[in-house]
Amino acid sequence: MTDTRSALTRRYQDELTVRQQQGLWRQSGDNAVAESWRNFAGNDYLGLAQDPRLVKKAQQHLERWGVGATASPVVSGFTAAHQSLCDQLCDWLGYPQAILFNSGFAANQALLFTLLGKDDALFQDKLNHASLIEAGVLSPATQRRFRHNDMAHLRQLLAKQTQPSASLIVSEGVFSMDGDVSPTESLATIANQSGALWALDDAHGIGVLGQEGEGSISRGARPDILIVTFGKALGVAGAAVLASPTIIDYLRQFARHYVYSTAMPPAQAALIEDTIRLARTEHWRRETLSAHAEQLAQGLHDWLETTSACEPHAINTQSLPQLLATPSPIKPLIIGDLAALQQVNHALMKAHIRVGAIRPPTVPANTARLRISLSAQHQKTDITALIEALKPVLACDKACEVTP
Ligand SMILES: *Cc1c(COP(=O)(O)O)cnc(C)c1O
Repeated sequence: MTDTRSALTRRYQDELTVRQQQGLWRQSGDNAVAESWRNFAGNDYLGLAQDPRLVKKAQQHLERWGVGATASPVVSGFTAAHQSLCDQLCDWLGYPQAILFNSGFAANQALLFTLLGKDDALFQDKLNHASLIEAGVLSPATQRRFRHNDMAHLRQLLAKQTQPSASLIVSEGVFSMDGDVSPTESLATIANQSGALWALDDAHGIGVLGQEGEGSISRGARPDILIVTFGKALGVAGAAVLASPTIIDYLRQFARHYVYSTAMPPAQAALIEDTIRLARTEHWRRETLSAHAEQLAQGLHDWLETTSACEPHAINTQSLPQLLATPSPIKPLIIGDLAALQQVNHALMKAHIRVGAIRPPTVPANTARLRISLSAQHQKTDITALIEALKPVLACDKACEVTP
């Protein structure tokens, strides 16, 4: 008999070694940022995750509801707290029905597995989140990926598809690694013209964009299906899908991630209602984000421009790092190669600044980057510290050495 157990262990070890050698090892374990550090690596855009009022509310909700839902929502896990959150979401975002999931990952998987069958076609932006792309790969439907935000390509793919029984177009409101937005008006038009359903994952837009933080729908077009998550700008965890009563009923009946999973704790649902209330009304949080974005762009651009003439750079990279201008609090600083990224990241760590270092395969090869994520929690001095910490590593070392 072959010892498959040790064969498997060896396979895992080999793959781990390869990953380490590629410089692609992901840190896990205690990755929480020490309080004294400046954190530009989270998704707490509105700065709500640590809000003392919410902490107090959470305690009250726990007293009222206990710690767990104890069952699937279709058994006895769905409480008045869940219903109230669904109602609030419908009111805020203007949809008739909502369904809750324990995570955005589960919501996306549920959606793509449940709504599509083997004769259907699925069209996804190439830069869609892993939860969507993976769901598409595993879904019985035929998946086609269109080039990022390339509507001509999407039209081509739709035209090529011979008579699917149904088509679903999936994109994101704000893309997590580039911080750019999708052309929602065009997506709506194309969906209408081709008779496709259109779903939009607004994990990074919700709370951040729009007058009341209503996200990407504030730009006008409304997807048939809207996915929002509560773990980013809203600072908690969980997700919801909003759509027509038929689609939501269908998900409630057939989505296995919903039916066969313990419901979100009711105290969490009640807490999410509180954070949404703050996100809608505390406009200063979005205004602070805009001010931070401007300060960062000014600080880095002015400086990158003045240094762009000199070669070589302190970091070993082909081209000058580039800060992408985005309409979101996600500010990618493209570094290019892995070694350079590591060097920059190292310097930031030494300055007690935490920024996400994003590497392939999360982003395309040669676009390794710092994903600078701004938060309303940051102070002006935090942004200044980040700019100052970046300057020496991004600078051309010759020039820096001769500058007194
Ligand atoms: C983070 C993210 C998800 C997953 O949401 P979780 O609630 O963290 O599981 C889904 N889609 C997008 C676009 C995301 O950025």
